[in-house]
Amino acid sequence: MINQALMSPRSIVVVGASNEIKKPGGKVLKNILDNHFVGNVYAVNPKESEIQGLEVYPNVKELPQTDLAILAIAAKYCLETVKTLAYEKGTKAFIILSAGFSEESHEGEVLENEIVKIINETGGCLIGPNCIGVITPHHASAFTTPVPTMDPKGIDFISGSGATAVFIMESGIPKGLTFSSVFSVGNSAQTGVEEILEYLDTTYVHGESSLIKLLYLETISNPKKLLKHATSLINKGCKIAAIKAGSSEAGSRAASSHTGALASSDVAVDALFRKAGIVRCSGREELTAVAAVFVHKELQGKRIAIITHAGGPAVMLTDVLSNGGIEIPSLKDHPKAPQLLEKLFAGSSVANPIDFLATGTAQQLGNIIDACENDFDEVDGMAVIFGSPGLFEVYDVYDVLHEKMKTCKKPIFPILPSVINVKNEIDYFIGKGRVFFPDEVVFGNALCRVADTLKPAATTLADLPVIDKAAIRKVIDEAPSEGYISPAQLGILMDAAGIPRVKESVSSSKDELVKCAEDMGYPVVMKVVGPVHKSDVGGVVLNVMDSDTLSREFDRMIKIPETTAILIQTMASGMELFLGAKREDDFGQMILCGMGGIFVEVIKDVKAGLSPLKKSEALEMIRSLKSYKLIQGVRGKEGVDEELFAEILTRLSALLEAAPEIFEMDLNPLLGKGKQIIAVDARCNIVKK
Ligand code: ADP
Ligand code: MG
Repeated sequence: MINQALMSPRSIVVVGASNEIKKPGGKVLKNILDNHFVGNVYAVNPKESEIQGLEVYPNVKELPQTDLAILAIAAKYCLETVKTLAYEKGTKAFIILSAGFSEESHEGEVLENEIVKIINETGGCLIGPNCIGVITPHHASAFTTPVPTMDPKGIDFISGSGATAVFIMESGIPKGLTFSSVFSVGNSAQTGVEEILEYLDTTYVHGESSLIKLLYLETISNPKKLLKHATSLINKGCKIAAIKAGSSEAGSRAASSHTGALASSDVAVDALFRKAGIVRCSGREELTAVAAVFVHKELQGKRIAIITHAGGPAVMLTDVLSNGGIEIPSLKDHPKAPQLLEKLFAGSSVANPIDFLATGTAQQLGNIIDACENDFDEVDGMAVIFGSPGLFEVYDVYDVLHEKMKTCKKPIFPILPSVINVKNEIDYFIGKGRVFFPDEVVFGNALCRVADTLKPAATTLADLPVIDKAAIRKVIDEAPSEGYISPAQLGILMDAAGIPRVKESVSSSKDELVKCAEDMGYPVVMKVVGPVHKSDVGGVVLNVMDSDTLSREFDRMIKIPETTAILIQTMASGMELFLGAKREDDFGQMILCGMGGIFVEVIKDVKAGLSPLKKSEALEMIRSLKSYKLIQGVRGKEGVDEELFAEILTRLSALLEAAPEIFEMDLNPLLGKGKQIIAVDARCNIVKK
């Protein structure tokens, strides 16, 4: 577990230190020495007498007591070294840079486990093995460059991949981003991304701790821990963005239901991030652009003024923002617009984008920003695009930007495209502690992502509707340990959860069904019981008008392979909706919703949420569907009551919480018409663990 010895050690030893700075053991020592570590630094190497100006210990036995050990030696020597340090030298933190452990072989895994055991026994912390190291404001114990400017208020960055951590820093540093800590977890033998987040959460001090966390994840081994601490940190005022790589593996999974095919583990990651309020990014540039958005004041609202001295980037930014749901309200007819226009050169425009031409001055920029801040209530923030064709310097413009960013209440996002022409001015701007965006479209997408991410849901079981748990438990406890449950049993589950379903009867006797149909009233629907995909095998007949047709169809359908009985239902009508559930290993129960038919099958327009799901979360899921307009009702076509649909989602969530044995469930379709939503097809597969 992360501890003080790792974060702020009094002494550090590099075991396997070297004069050769192209080797990890040489470079990590150089980085520590070059970055003003104030404690004692020791070097261990049996073959050298002096390394980088330090006296050398031939082995760890000779060392004085040492807080943090960095191991850059072959894997096979690590165990003995850890033993000596942990048992004899009071070492409470280890960073093992070496590879050759669980990532390589079974023997490596055994060795890794032995090391973890010793470190756990002595209450120490282990980072790695197979990592690039750790950087904190106190020490730069990584064997790579760049070493970013360390700033206690900068970003806490945790990476599941060492090389990617370097590339993410390379993307962030030139934008002006600073870091408070960088952790490369390597094999996460003892400490993974989740544990570091837990540490950042439990040691968070308001006003002191850094507010921005970036994560690069390749696996999520403890989703519940990630959810808990991300939610907690964000509720304390932090902002978190993350990349979860490896999103395409899941599509290939064989599945027996729509839900199975749609509910990949990547969808679960989406659902988890959404519930926690983590901004999901897909690449390095996006991640660092989102971090740069986080650094600025928060956009309170969804309306932006684009201030520019060049048309092209402003148009591109307008496109990306408006496609992403951010408004660029027109200011053309604003009563204060003429007043501002007077201060600009002829030909300028105060529409929005506000274009003050290639010849626009620093003073004019100041006037525009003041108008946006004080006069134009229609905007909540500003994006300022200002580069240079290379004819003149722009220090004065960036000074104005810097000053206005300090004083304005509305956020100002600086887009500075001329990274070559005015490199010096940009360095000057960054030197004042500022962060900028080199590209307007990357910025626009990042801003939309941030604006789309909701606050953490923090739902508990108490937020769920009250349902008849006893009836549910009876069905589940009596069911076999694995397999689909019968329509009758599923009917009991749905009734107990209050999920509306169409009236139905099941029988293998034709006469009995004819009688049921008389009672129900024609027209009825006939379906085979047994086959999973009924329509595919000719097992669904709609609109059966009389007993003759019913008898004829019965004779045909009962012969369909795997058919055990025939089910009849009343005919319903309305828009087809889809609901699904899937147990996703450690993530828990995932719920999916969308529109049925082609929307779920072809367009795959579904949204996922993690149970427990409260109504506001369910509504957000529904509202973020591509087909939401259809649910609302479009062109005179009646829509569906979204509140009711959301209520059914929460009832499904309550059912799943009462019956965690449910492995997969499909309600496809439910037919919806105004205030009526009714399930006409359901299947449910349980697996008792
Ligand atoms: P499967 O999904 O196994 O093919 P369904 O029971 O979903 O079978 O039926 C196929 C389609 O028939 C549904 O998508 C729906 O359009 C229609 N349908 C099924 N039951 C009814 C019903 N009771 N009323 C009206 N239409 C129905
Ligand atoms: Mg169906």
